Amino acid sequence: MQPLYSLKVPESANDERFDGLARLARCHFGVMAVLVTTGIEDRQEVRTCDGMAFSNASRIGCFGKPWGGADVLLVVPDAHCDERFRDHDLVVAAPHVRFFAGCPLRGPDGGLLGMLCLLHDQPRELDATQQHVFRELAQLAADMLAREETHTHLQRELDALRESERRMALAMAGSGTGIWDRNVATGEIHYSTGWKAMLGYAEHEVGNRIEESYTRVHPADLDYVRATILAHFEQRTDAYEVEHRIRCRDGSYKWVCSRGKVVERDGAGKPLRMIGTTTDITAMRTLSERVQQTAELMTDLTNEIPGMVFQYRRQPDGTSRFSYVSAGVRDIYGLTPEQLAGSAEALHAIIHPDDLPRYLASFEVSASDLTPWHLEYRVQLPGQGILWRQGDARPRGLEDGGVLWHGFITDITERKQIEAELQVFATTDFLTQLSNRRHFMHQLEAELARVQRSADHCAAILMFDLDHFKSINDRWGHSVGDQALRHFARILCAQLRKTDAAGRMGGEEFAVVLSNANIDEAKTFAQRIQHELAESPLLHGDERISLAISVGITAIDADDATAESALSRSDMALYRAKRSGRNRIECF
Ligand code: GH3
Ligand code: MG
Ligand code: MG
Repeated sequence: MQPLYSLKVPESANDERFDGLARLARCHFGVMAVLVTTGIEDRQEVRTCDGMAFSNASRIGCFGKPWGGADVLLVVPDAHCDERFRDHDLVVAAPHVRFFAGCPLRGPDGGLLGMLCLLHDQPRELDATQQHVFRELAQLAADMLAREETHTHLQRELDALRESERRMALAMAGSGTGIWDRNVATGEIHYSTGWKAMLGYAEHEVGNRIEESYTRVHPADLDYVRATILAHFEQRTDAYEVEHRIRCRDGSYKWVCSRGKVVERDGAGKPLRMIGTTTDITAMRTLSERVQQTAELMTDLTNEIPGMVFQYRRQPDGTSRFSYVSAGVRDIYGLTPEQLAGSAEALHAIIHPDDLPRYLASFEVSASDLTPWHLEYRVQLPGQGILWRQGDARPRGLEDGGVLWHGFITDITERKQIEAELQVFATTDFLTQLSNRRHFMHQLEAELARVQRSADHCAAILMFDLDHFKSINDRWGHSVGDQALRHFARILCAQLRKTDAAGRMGGEEFAVVLSNANIDEAKTFAQRIQHELAESPLLHGDERISLAISVGITAIDADDATAESALSRSDMALYRAKRSGRNRIECF
């Protein structure tokens, strides 16, 4: 028999049985050849052939055509007498078929599977008994074909299943996932090849006892892993899921995520079987640790540097909020980050009311010009009083029309105090606490500017010089001289209004500028000072030291080019008072 594979007929265990069936039929009927074909009409294939060359058998095709779908046995006693077959090439040429009998092979559902054919090179008949046997043999062949078809179908499904399993295994291995199956009752656990490979183990290198499994879990994670499994065993959780470290074959540890579920329990709910997966999350874990470290560094940096780091956002609708503030917000504003997160309103209540308009306006300017924001302003913190803050930030325009600032606020209260002290230092005469000459000249210039600005504003300058002061020094000593200077300064100050200014011009010379006062009013003021000085002598031990003063007065003139020129007129008036006998008032 010609090998089937050369005819592209699939080989299976059934083929020998088909061969046997054909042989049996040929012997029984004593015919030249027996064929089993599969398929119908043009698509027929020879399944087995006994007594005839396959090359001939394969040409049988159209012999089956005349049946159509009819469930009948076709017997052609003599092809020469049947016009349907007379011209068939198997009839006109070798092997010169004369007799043909064919029986359709039908499956359980009635579908046509193929046919069983008898061929002979002499005319002949099939009697009723022979036809019966022929039908029975055909039924046998049909059953065999049907079973084969079922088998092929199952085989195909099995192959598909295997393929899907293989793909699943590949996907699992690709995602770094292994599978395990644990018999809780017996303490056995089985791992997939992928599971073992994930940890670097060969197939035979991993035992199947649960006790061994626990030895691979990192000691620091073991209690947690056990507790998580127990919680699921006791049905306190729907599933088991835990991240832990597991030892690889080379002794290193991998981070894995173990997930599983009890799939079988006994009547009392005790777990019997659990299935799960183990996924390698080392890379993810490393990444998330790095992200966490970066975040911690950022938080430490922003929280540890003195002051407050912030991100401030102004929405296109004009509302604004702090999208980030560091922990320093507690010291800087006495608020929590949460209090500022929603809106910046809470802060506006903290900023000194006198500085709030300036604070809001400065952000307006920074937003519209996108220029750096810089401001020194005061805040009022409960229990701490008024404190100074300095803010610096860079704005960035957002696509939606909003503005985003990144910046920081520092505490400048101490600097402001020092600045204020320095300011006092720079403007005050240490001995008398009055303005020093330089500062008084500034005050005088400001007053001159007011006079020059407004026609109905007037002002007067008074120059004072203690009489015979040198003799006090000579008689009582320098420190008593100092006390005399302070004594006079106090008397002077007591008579000043808020708008007036007094300064020590040097030695025992003093000057006063009276705002909104004319010469007469200045004269009255000078008389009051003389009177006060005469009424309250300097007390030194039991002694009373009388002091007297000479005064020169002038009015500030809008035409005065400088404060100095106005002052020199009062100096001239003073000189006249001295020359005229002292303890006098002279007007220029
Ligand atoms: P006159 O009536 O002409 O003004 O005479 P006088 O003695 O007051 O004026 P004079 O200019 O002769 O002397 C002023 C003295 O004031 C000389 C100086 O030693 C003294 N003096 C200047 N500054 C101070 C100071 O800060 N403390 C003390 N104790 N004396 C000072
Ligand atoms: Mg003098
Ligand atoms: Mg003097």
